[in-house]
Amino acid sequence: MENSDVILVTGGSGLVGSAIKSVVESEKADGERWIFVTSKDANLCDYDSTKALFEKHRPTKVIHLAAMVGGLFHNMSHNLDFFKNNLNMNNNVLQVSHEMQVKKVISCLSTCIFPDKITYPIDETMVHLGPPHSSNFGYSYAKRMIDVANRAYKQQHGCNFTSVIPCNVFGPQDNYNLESSHVIPGLIRKLHDIISKGGDTFTVMGTGKPLRQFIYSMDLAKLFVWALRNYEDVEPIIFSVDESAEISIGEAAEEIARSFDFKGKIIYDTTKADGQFKKTASNAKLRRLHPEFKFTPFKEAIQTSVDWYKQNCSTARN
Ligand code: NAP
Ligand code: GDP
Repeated sequence: MENSDVILVTGGSGLVGSAIKSVVESEKADGERWIFVTSKDANLCDYDSTKALFEKHRPTKVIHLAAMVGGLFHNMSHNLDFFKNNLNMNNNVLQVSHEMQVKKVISCLSTCIFPDKITYPIDETMVHLGPPHSSNFGYSYAKRMIDVANRAYKQQHGCNFTSVIPCNVFGPQDNYNLESSHVIPGLIRKLHDIISKGGDTFTVMGTGKPLRQFIYSMDLAKLFVWALRNYEDVEPIIFSVDESAEISIGEAAEEIARSFDFKGKIIYDTTKADGQFKKTASNAKLRRLHPEFKFTPFKEAIQTSVDWYKQNCSTARN
């Protein structure tokens, strides 16, 4: 059968992109050809490079994941880079998608871009209702502009551009660099290093009290594929586990320690920042539109992620 859709995934080498790749490889749908690209294929901060990439592959649909992404501490020290790089990448991908008459683009926001002072649970209508947390304002404002652009491209040119809003993501092929990583890959890397040196003290940054919803990358990947095939609205949609699945950073650290069978002690370095206390998001819209979806239990997904890192630490992104 001839492929009717050519689906270009930017950020194809990252945590989410590699999960989408393994999901689509395991379920192969007729009529879809998937292309996963990385910064080696094109620098999406550059318009000409972006245009050349699209001219080469002629996608009919795009999942736009590529971004400058990082944890709390990387954001705090690089707000300008997060703002400029992400704004440029998003502008180029959406503009070139419009010029090349791409039928559908799904871009990626994040629950950390919502207003810091807000009522809970957060829902899709609240993206622009107040300033984001000061720790990541560069990333947040750049990401919020995707939603503005999607609406403007639809209004002015009739484009079918939308966005999804994941909560914190984790899984195999994450970024394990201690300077720039998110909390789960950072703690997995740290504890692996401690155990390999015979240490017995696992230090977690901050108080351990902030609350987070964590989605396993393979679950998020399945939801992206569902959205590509089924979700046609410009309004964003939150892709998060339930509110009842929200846990503290301390509980996440304990689960990682259990997965490593670590018997030492966990301590908290309260001189380090906690960041946003919580960003509890409602997945009611997702539950309504895709009621049969089942999330992988956190314990199981953490064990898989720890086992993956143990087996791949020498080649993982460190
Ligand atoms: P990631 O693992 O850091 O991967 C980032 C991807 O973007 C890589 O494939 C990277 O390519 C590519 N990239 C970066 N700069 C580029 C450039 N200038 N030109 C072309 N490609 C570039 O990120 P992720 O965690 O998978 O995140 C994917 C999306 O989910 C992002 O939009 C992010 O904002 C969003 N998100 C992530 C989380 C999370 O917890 N991780 C939560 C909510 C939303 P190379 O490998 O070649 O560098
Ligand atoms: P956020 O959810 O956007 O704030 O990003 P992170 O994934 O970086 O999570 C930050 C939370 O985890 C803060 O409360 C940090 O104090 C805490 N944390 C504890 N240890 C670490 C670590 O090793 N790396 C990171 N990035 N955060 C950590």
